[in-house]
Amino acid sequence: MAKITKLDDIVSLCKRRGFIFQSSEIYGGLASCYDYGPLGVELKNNVKKAWWKAVVQMRDDVVGLDSSILMHPLIWKASGHADKFADLIAECKKCNTRTRVDHLKEKTNQSAEEHTEHIAINSAIAGAQDLSNKVCPNCGSVGTFTEPMPFKLMFETRMGANIDDSMTLYLRPETAQGIFANFANVLDSTRVKIPFGIAQIGKSFRNEVTTKAFIFRTREFEQAELEFFCEPGTDEKWYEHWKEARFNWYIDLGLNKQNLRFREHDTNELAHYAKSCVDIEYRFPFGSGDWQELEGVANRTDYDLRQHQRGMRTLNSWYENNGDLTKIELKEEADNYEKGPLSYFDNEKKKRYIPYVIEPSAGIDRSTLAFLVDAYDEEEVRGEKRNLLKFHPVLAPVKVAIFPLVKRDGMPDIAHNIANDLKKYFNCFYDEKGAVGRRYRRQDEAGTPFCITVDGQTLEDKTVTVRDRDSMDQIRISTDQLRNHLREKLDV
Ligand code: ATP
Repeated sequence: MAKITKLDDIVSLCKRRGFIFQSSEIYGGLASCYDYGPLGVELKNNVKKAWWKAVVQMRDDVVGLDSSILMHPLIWKASGHADKFADLIAECKKCNTRTRVDHLKEKTNQSAEEHTEHIAINSAIAGAQDLSNKVCPNCGSVGTFTEPMPFKLMFETRMGANIDDSMTLYLRPETAQGIFANFANVLDSTRVKIPFGIAQIGKSFRNEVTTKAFIFRTREFEQAELEFFCEPGTDEKWYEHWKEARFNWYIDLGLNKQNLRFREHDTNELAHYAKSCVDIEYRFPFGSGDWQELEGVANRTDYDLRQHQRGMRTLNSWYENNGDLTKIELKEEADNYEKGPLSYFDNEKKKRYIPYVIEPSAGIDRSTLAFLVDAYDEEEVRGEKRNLLKFHPVLAPVKVAIFPLVKRDGMPDIAHNIANDLKKYFNCFYDEKGAVGRRYRRQDEAGTPFCITVDGQTLEDKTVTVRDRDSMDQIRISTDQLRNHLREKLDV
């Protein structure tokens, strides 16, 4: 049985040690927006780097992209977001709390507390809903809901000097559409050939209705998405390939296999354009331990590129209607759509087609939370509690901490020299304050894999102690060999 960590313990460690803070805290905070502190930004950057390394750098068939957050509004018409991207919500008439209908639970023998913390898996915009037996997650009343109503998830902003001649734009709710919009650019400017992928990491924004559970579901978040373009007919093979590759990525970075699983979507919960979709789920510590989506891998067929071909044909109508998306209908698909501007010509097979797309779509903040939760550990050492984060070295915000045992006899100078040398290769932290035991504990809590201590013996034989975070074992290493020893252990 895997350990269940309390989310509260993680939240308080994150604040205490400078991983994650509530946004705008000095003004009372801004709901469901978070800031990453000095250790948090290092951790999150490392998660992004590890994703980029596995998905782009180590492969010959994936290239990168960084598209803008603000895009032409027709993109969102073509993608379906402008019309359909809404959650159904219902308001409890007793306490006025609004909740996503797909997050409501039936009255069963489960406790109200579990309802509060549960975050459901499906996002459904279904037809008639019977809410008569549903429980309000806030006050526990049963069947006290208003009729469900749609709640638009896209944030709007305006571009232009004044109200009269400015236009409504949307903060992107996913990074994927920037990739589809650049498909032809990438084809024309590089030598990629199908099968190939375009990858991107960037901010996305959703005006989420329910936003509990720390950084699990926030209104501003970062996504890491890959659109992998392949020939129709090979899509199922690539779907399996990416499912496995993405699952193994989490394991390789140290997530406990017991806390990870696949959940294949049933046909009735598949998005209309998806041929198949699987969630990679992690057992987050909400309620009594709950499986939640970490990443989705979907076979999106040729839907998006075909939709954008329709969007491109709608441009005139967009001008005629002064950019009012509500007045615009997407143009029908052209008869010869397979040969359209977003098609691909296979030079060897001498055939033109719209590629199919396999999309692994991960959340950087959500996986950062999973890595934090999974790494968190508490143990008792000689009657004292020791908190530690057992991060994989690749993810650890600080790789090595360097201490002089005492602030005299030239020990600080030697320690500074070691730190200055190692800094060229990875993130180091120098600390000379307080008892060395306390310094070790602080680094355990920050997840630092190794601590180096310069002591009396260093002055005699030029060796230092290297302490391992997890085992707390200490070995002596000569200062000449330190750099190589650590680089090998840290894999950096
Ligand atoms: P959910 O059902 O949890 O709302 P989703 O199925 O709508 O998620 P996708 O649109 O598939 O999510 O987005 C892909 C990934 O982006 C998710 O697996 C998740 O890791 C991340 N993500 C989506 N919405 C949020 C959010 N509000 N906060 C943090 N991460 C998010």
